[in-house]
Amino acid sequence: MTPSGAWVASLPGGAEMRAGSRLSGDFSDPLAPASARSQCLLADAPWTWLDQVHGNQVVVVDQPGACRGAQADAAVTRCTRAALAVRTADCAPVGLASREGVIGAVHAGWRGLMAGVVEAAVAAMRSLGAGEVSAALGPCIAPHAYRFSRADLEQVAERYGRGVVAADDAGYPALDLRAAVGAALSACGATLVADARACTHCSGDHWSWRANRDTGRQASVVWFPGQCGTTVGTIGPVDRDRGV
Ligand SMILES: [Zn+2]
Repeated sequence: MTPSGAWVASLPGGAEMRAGSRLSGDFSDPLAPASARSQCLLADAPWTWLDQVHGNQVVVVDQPGACRGAQADAAVTRCTRAALAVRTADCAPVGLASREGVIGAVHAGWRGLMAGVVEAAVAAMRSLGAGEVSAALGPCIAPHAYRFSRADLEQVAERYGRGVVAADDAGYPALDLRAAVGAALSACGATLVADARACTHCSGDHWSWRANRDTGRQASVVWFPGQCGTTVGTIGPVDRDRGV
């Protein structure tokens, strides 16, 4: 996994999703100095991270780093130098991008999905000029470890279809979160183009609330790597002309 223990997915318009792991740092307190260092290593651009509440609020970031700490579960932007981050333990991080250069990041747990956070994020992207929206799904909990009450599961199945109904290792009802995210994306005409297929519960490399009651959080970032960072950003044509 590179860089910094991350799963990387290329998205349209030169965008990229980097889904971090434990190896990329603990982002549970984004203001901690250690977290600031980890942010630079994972994606060297001003981060917009969110105060996530499992709702359907989407912030529109109009300059790099804007809306940092806002109470919301998704962010969208067309700023080429912004990095949109969501933090997860077992919930699904979803990266979104369109060819027109509009990107989004979504924190999708079952409550957020039921509130329509994925559809709200895609709609916000379209209002910024996105046409076709492509999605990448980072590591999240797999159904075998995601036991669910029958009543809650039925609610999700009513909204997103029977494909979300699964069983856990002991045969109890379980939610297939990946299937629910897939159904939410389909519902708003977005296409899943990359899937990490990693289970946070089983992977020793990820924080998991269900497995370990971990308070740590991995971060997933959507950004335009070619527009940011020290590797590409500081060696532009202007610098070369000056012989730097
Ligand atoms: Zn698992």
